[in-house]
Amino acid sequence: MPQSVEKVLDHQPLFRQPEYTEMFKAKKEQFECGHPDEKVQEIADWTKSWDYREKNLAREALVVNPAKACQPLGAVFAAAGFADTLSFVHGSQGCVAYYRSHLSRHFKEPSSAVSSSMTEDAAVFGGLTNMVDGLGTAHKLYKPKMIAVSTTCMAEVIGDDLHAFTSTAKEKGSIPQDLDVPFAHTPAFVGSHTTGYDNMMKGILQYFWKKQERTAGESLNIIPGFDGFAVANNREIKRMLDMMGVDYTLLSDVSDVYDMPADGTFNMYAGGTTIEDTKAAMNAKATLSMQQACTSKTLEYAESVGQQVKALNYPLGVQGTDAFLMAVKELTGKDIPEELLVERGRLVDAIADSMSHLHGKKFAIYGDPDFCLGMAQFVMELGAEPTHVLATNGTKAWGKQMEALLASSPYGEGCQVWAGKDLWHLRSLLATEPVDFLIGNSYGKYLERDLKIPLIRLTFPIFDRHHHHRFPTWGYQGGLRVLVTLLDKVFDTIDADTNETGVSDYSFDLTR
Ligand code: SF4
Repeated sequence: MPQSVEKVLDHQPLFRQPEYTEMFKAKKEQFECGHPDEKVQEIADWTKSWDYREKNLAREALVVNPAKACQPLGAVFAAAGFADTLSFVHGSQGCVAYYRSHLSRHFKEPSSAVSSSMTEDAAVFGGLTNMVDGLGTAHKLYKPKMIAVSTTCMAEVIGDDLHAFTSTAKEKGSIPQDLDVPFAHTPAFVGSHTTGYDNMMKGILQYFWKKQERTAGESLNIIPGFDGFAVANNREIKRMLDMMGVDYTLLSDVSDVYDMPADGTFNMYAGGTTIEDTKAAMNAKATLSMQQACTSKTLEYAESVGQQVKALNYPLGVQGTDAFLMAVKELTGKDIPEELLVERGRLVDAIADSMSHLHGKKFAIYGDPDFCLGMAQFVMELGAEPTHVLATNGTKAWGKQMEALLASSPYGEGCQVWAGKDLWHLRSLLATEPVDFLIGNSYGKYLERDLKIPLIRLTFPIFDRHHHHRFPTWGYQGGLRVLVTLLDKVFDTIDADTNETGVSDYSFDLTR
């Protein structure tokens, strides 16, 4: 065997050794019983044609590779941003393993959540016993100050009532009467993780705020929304608010939860917005959401208690950050300090330095609705051209909003907006109307390999690259980082461009 203790081969050279290549070949020939290579190629080529594109876009009853996750994932993420809080998902174990692994694979940090472990009997007779026992066990084992309950498909299909079930758990004594147990119904078969985030955020605020009287104050609530770069973006938002001297509460702050130092101990409840701050947030003058699609119900509720509300669309780049700072100024009356104007100037300067390398480049963008809006706006600021913008969880209203944004710049002319479409649709779009670069998450790597369009990873989930989320994409500083990420990919692509003999013979420049 090629592998030995003297020379341990990594998987790539190892699986290219004859022992393995022969074994893979034999497996394919003897057991996979596939079609001939020529036939496979013929069909693969046809699936990149306009003919197939039309059939693919007419598809209604099937979703292939959606660029979204289900509601409870968003609920678990929202709950994770509150201090000493354990997510309890009423449903099956497998679903919760998926949320934990999805978040851990992206953030490279532990992600804690428990389930009521519903199986077939609970699906038939109802999950009350699972809930009562599960809440008791979770409380005894993990000692949270708050348990945030959400639901999976199974619990929603049979119609389990979270209000009744959590009250019964208290009546039966499995958890203390005074334990905070907010909840949100998060049916996974409607909406997406952004809806789940909204439902859980509203559920938590409603749980605390409905028990108290509001005394209107001057502070500002910020809701970040579901964001794979939340660790650094939340810190960037706090840094800017501190510079402006704003009194604020970040509702659901995961920045320390998903970025724990290695100090030899496991802290299950690092960071997060405290219960006291969450209660006091009712008295805020206003609530500002960084992502509209993640907070429509929550903002409606905040408005109903007497707060001013405003929603942004992922404050990325110059205009995105301007909109954030102007909204804060408008809502709090605080001036934007000179240091932030200097940061803005530096970003504008950097954009001007690099403009010629981005001008006219075509980009396809996919991800959550607000990410697409923020990223498309920034791409146009750079003089580049969004060509396809796709959000599987984008609504018709989002599509109109996106079209209005594109119409605001000559660089948006000709861009096509795809609400509710998936990544298999995107494959057809890219095969028939190609772009220079693709902006999205790790799932785009299959499109990159298939269609030879370089992928730039800038949104959740990023599983196959490490630590991107530790650097902000929001604010002027974040804009600089996104600019550099785009430029690096442009330059790497030029350097990797080779002639038929495999040589980079043209524009392999030392200075650009
Ligand atoms: S879609 Fe339903 S079954 Fe699948 S992970 Fe989400 S809750 Fe579980």
